[in-house]
Amino acid sequence: MELWLTEKQTENLTMSCRIRETLFNGQSDFQKVEVLDSYEFGRMLVLDGVFQTSIADEFIYHEMIAHVPLLTHPAPKRVLIIGGGDGGSVREAVRHAAVETVEMVEIDGLVVEVSKKFLPEISSAMRDNHPKLQLFIGDGIAHMKKIDNHFDVIIVDCSDPIGPGVGLFSREFYQDVYQALKPDGLFVQQTESPFYHQSLITRINRDIRDFFPITKMYLANIPLYPGGLHSFTIGSKKYDPETVVVPDPLPFSTRYYNERLHRSSFVLPNFVQHLLK
Ligand code: SAM
Repeated sequence: MELWLTEKQTENLTMSCRIRETLFNGQSDFQKVEVLDSYEFGRMLVLDGVFQTSIADEFIYHEMIAHVPLLTHPAPKRVLIIGGGDGGSVREAVRHAAVETVEMVEIDGLVVEVSKKFLPEISSAMRDNHPKLQLFIGDGIAHMKKIDNHFDVIIVDCSDPIGPGVGLFSREFYQDVYQALKPDGLFVQQTESPFYHQSLITRINRDIRDFFPITKMYLANIPLYPGGLHSFTIGSKKYDPETVVVPDPLPFSTRYYNERLHRSSFVLPNFVQHLLK
């Protein structure tokens, strides 16, 4: 019998992937956790029925969420990742020579455990206990409340605004992020599809703009996510990601990100610009 996983993307739209094999299926305190081997995308992490990442296209998301902010800041020594339990963002972050420590706060220990076991390409920094990495299992929202003026860059590598991730899209959280950053710090968050999540994008952009003098959205094409077009938002106290000079060539190899792509990713279609007005 053929096995398919269907993600409900809206009330009226689904995306289905034909599955070769279920590698893991379990329930944590927070969510249903699955690792599935699909024909189209290879092994995939799925949380509460929502595709999170896949072996085939993960490089796009992880390079874009890590390198854009880390090359915008001139000296990103202290980095915090909220979420990111598959390990892809930390894998990219530790490649920056300027980065000295990466603290990571993931709420779900089961996501880390299964990623280490079934997604070794993505979780390599966690599997190798990379010396720059300090991993904490806990709630990133509560964690932020304890920090003041500490980080250069914060990467919010969160799931959708459902379940434990809801508070990561709140005004209160953005205020805590602002407080946790140094006076020239900046943060980035994955902010969903500009086509399917328009009211969410308008709201969070307004909230981030209330705290951060420089608020910029950039885009990437990620085949696994609804509609393919995916957005990220940077809130920055000082450095402008659009005017920063990115090294060309880069000091490390990448499969998606490069200097010209950094610049072009901030060019927004008119309908997206409209959402941010
Ligand atoms: N690339 C993915 C995407 O956009 O769908 C996100 C990947 S990563 C797997 C998201 C992680 O955020 C999940 O492992 C989830 O457990 C974690 N997460 C959700 N809410 C959280 C919270 N409040 N604190 C820390 N981690 C959280």
